[in-house]
Amino acid sequence: MSVALIAKQTDYRLLPFRFMRMPEVGDSQVLITADTGEYLFVKDSDLPGIVHKRLDRQSALYKDLLARHFIYEPEIHTPFPEMAAQIRSRKNFLFGGPALHLFVVTLRCNHTCQYCQVSRAPLGDHAHDMSAEDAMHAVDRLFESPSPVLTVEFQGGEPLLAFDRVKQIIEAVSARNETEHRSIQFIISSTLHHLTDPILAFAKQYAVQFSTSLDGPAFLHNANRPTPEKNAYERTLEGIHRIRDVLGHDAVSALTTLTSRSLEHPKAIIDEYVKQGFKSISLRPLSPYGFAKKSSERLDYSIDQYLSFYTEALSYLIQLNSEGTYLSEGYASLLLGNMLTPFSSGYVDLRSPLGAAVGALVYNYDGDVYPSDEARMLLEMGESGLKLGTVRQPLSELLHSPVVRQLLDAGIAEALPGCSDCALVPYCGADPIEHFARQGDPIGHRSFSTFCQKNTALLTHLFGLLRNGDHSTQRVLMSWLARRSFNDLAQPGYGG
Ligand code: SF4
Repeated sequence: MSVALIAKQTDYRLLPFRFMRMPEVGDSQVLITADTGEYLFVKDSDLPGIVHKRLDRQSALYKDLLARHFIYEPEIHTPFPEMAAQIRSRKNFLFGGPALHLFVVTLRCNHTCQYCQVSRAPLGDHAHDMSAEDAMHAVDRLFESPSPVLTVEFQGGEPLLAFDRVKQIIEAVSARNETEHRSIQFIISSTLHHLTDPILAFAKQYAVQFSTSLDGPAFLHNANRPTPEKNAYERTLEGIHRIRDVLGHDAVSALTTLTSRSLEHPKAIIDEYVKQGFKSISLRPLSPYGFAKKSSERLDYSIDQYLSFYTEALSYLIQLNSEGTYLSEGYASLLLGNMLTPFSSGYVDLRSPLGAAVGALVYNYDGDVYPSDEARMLLEMGESGLKLGTVRQPLSELLHSPVVRQLLDAGIAEALPGCSDCALVPYCGADPIEHFARQGDPIGHRSFSTFCQKNTALLTHLFGLLRNGDHSTQRVLMSWLARRSFNDLAQPGYGG
């Protein structure tokens, strides 16, 4: 090689990127990613050449690196304004303020789910209902958020048991919005056991959507969600059909809670969703919140067990989709959105800076305000340290509380030990509340973090499918990305 050529080849400069060897994706494959979200697979043997500026400027690799802003030529172009715009787009959720507002209108519930022992109250216990006054204070807080798009979600317990409060809030929000002109979506998370014709008529008037829990076929759902009459599955199904009759097919979405029993039945769970005509299924692992320790030992499972269930389920889903049945997996769709589009999916758990408080607020039945539903459930486990304040305090005060400051300290993934040099960080999140719940520390240790293990495994698996999967697998995944809808985005925690 001539001296002149070498001199020319040293002209480019490196831009910051992270790299990760991915044997799962292919022999000697290295993923390189930038904060802009751009990524590229390069050969392990190319890495020293890139870093030591020995690349041939005519090579395809050089052009790819240049186009995706991993390198730049200082005398020829300045990529920084374009990169800043890309980063701004990915972090756009920061500019809106809290968009997801969860109202816990009551803790009362007719179920006795084992994984929810400590966050429900008996049917007749009205002491665990939100007062009308607190509800109106919470509506004031909602409109103090500058977000032009707001999601108002009702949670419980079972919110339909306190439907008067739900009605009062929806009417008040709608009346106020005559002058506010925000885009507002109402969602009720419910077992649907207490649906009535007047509730459905009201839901139609205010375009309310429903999110329910369907854990699989009757044997699984009824085992996971016991009621005195042992007919939880039948009543939820009846509710789904009633909503579809009055409000339309897509006005109800469903979420799955996976217990250790569920992990034995990936195909049966998916077949049930196909049978009931859903377009999306969310295969989320059990959260470490809201259930008594004894139950957690019986119902919980290792992350490895979950991951082997998930990959089997995903492969079955891809097969069904390839054969013409559309059913996407919600979490995969959110991750694909983060990996393949210039925008963040908006899902609270996958944000950095964190989604809790910054993107979502929870108004508890007693008027206290929490940064997320998980933080509220920790309270029911005896941990009250994550309270931001009460509905009577202005939003600015709630968002300046010491808890928010502490969460922010632990809530920027790009600055966390373990994440700061992880190539997956542009597509992942920080989730300090999960780490606080599992490890007793909002920063946590990524080597022992199930959140990290889950996201590493799923992102790596998806990269592998995108790179090595056959044409039909890639087509299915792209179709999930293109058709992300209310069904995918109505997962708890979506607020953007
Ligand atoms: S949580 Fe794990 S996968 Fe996600 S960015 Fe941090 S180290 Fe990477």
